[in-house]
Amino acid sequence: MMAMTLAQTFPDIVRAAAPLAPHTLLKLGGPAEWFAEPRSVEELAAVMRAAGEAKLAVRVLGIGSNVLVPDDGVSGLVLRLTAPAFGKVEIDGRRARAGGGAALIALISEAARRNLAGLETLVGIPATVGGALRVNAGDRSGEIGQYVRRVEVLDGSHRAAWREHDDLRFGVNESNLDDPVILGAEFELEFDKPEAIVKRIRRAWIMRKASQPYTFEAAAKLFRDPRGLQASALIDKAALGKTKVGKAALSERNSNYVVAAPGATARDVLRLIDLMRSKVKDSSGVTLESEITIW
Ligand SMILES: Cc1cc2nc3c(=O)[nH]c(=O)nc-3n(C[C@H](O)[C@H](O)[C@H](O)COP(=O)(O)OP(=O)(O)OC[C@H]3O[C@@H](n4cnc5c(N)ncnc54)[C@H](O)[C@@H]3O)c2cc1C
Repeated sequence: MMAMTLAQTFPDIVRAAAPLAPHTLLKLGGPAEWFAEPRSVEELAAVMRAAGEAKLAVRVLGIGSNVLVPDDGVSGLVLRLTAPAFGKVEIDGRRARAGGGAALIALISEAARRNLAGLETLVGIPATVGGALRVNAGDRSGEIGQYVRRVEVLDGSHRAAWREHDDLRFGVNESNLDDPVILGAEFELEFDKPEAIVKRIRRAWIMRKASQPYTFEAAAKLFRDPRGLQASALIDKAALGKTKVGKAALSERNSNYVVAAPGATARDVLRLIDLMRSKVKDSSGVTLESEITIW
């Protein structure tokens, strides 16, 4: 199938040359050649199959809190799992099930409402469940991967399949969930007293808010913390005031975040990343690894 026919075959859900900036937290970057928001797993599989036949690259976007879209945009197909079919959260005993497109905060609050604990340390991380699983979102106080029983994916042959606990690996801001699409996951949580859960939610919220850019800022986290070290501390030591390229600046609240002023480009952000990486290399001998996914 020719790529031209993708929009003709799926006129209700596929658009050409769709701007991606509004769908990322940095609010910058160019369009997707093709963009789709399928309404069901079947429709998702059909679009993926058509994209495969047309040899198009396929990417999934969560809420775009960890993605940098180049100024020229991306070729191929970008998918978002915004339809209700991908956003459900269901609780059964100690098990919580969430769609890959569900907001992480919806999963945490629904669990907390049922007195289920575990995920509350993740409060304040802007993410979908799929995006959080892909990069094992969290920090030293807890990571999403700890609570995962199994994950439903769309595999390379466009079939829905469950990946069980023993087959899953979660590291620091990484996982082996490299399947084309994360459809959802099942978590096993622990019952706890409501006041204890609320207390931990409040603590996580206060800690994150104090160490992140303001929520009204267009921002992204830049580098992974190297083993035993903090990227922000290495940058503070190295940057010495030079913390801005074009309209992209390091956050004053945490120097491991970039804040994009209106009019900032992906090129500004990329140059800031390069600059910080070489400064930190010079001052500490450490090569920082990107945490942000560069498309
Ligand atoms: C202010 C701020 C604070 C943050 N704090 C933290 C923190 O404390 N800890 C932390 O770990 N991170 C943090 N982050 C980074 C970010 O929130 C996480 O990486 C988050 O998990 C990204 O989720 P997302 O849904 O936005 O995914 P996106 O950014 O949209 O995508 C990230 C990657 O996952 C892939 N992906 C997304 N959804 C799916 C899916 N359904 N199937 C397959 N692949 C998918 C994308 O293709 C991409 O490669 C922070 C970011 C910001 C801006």
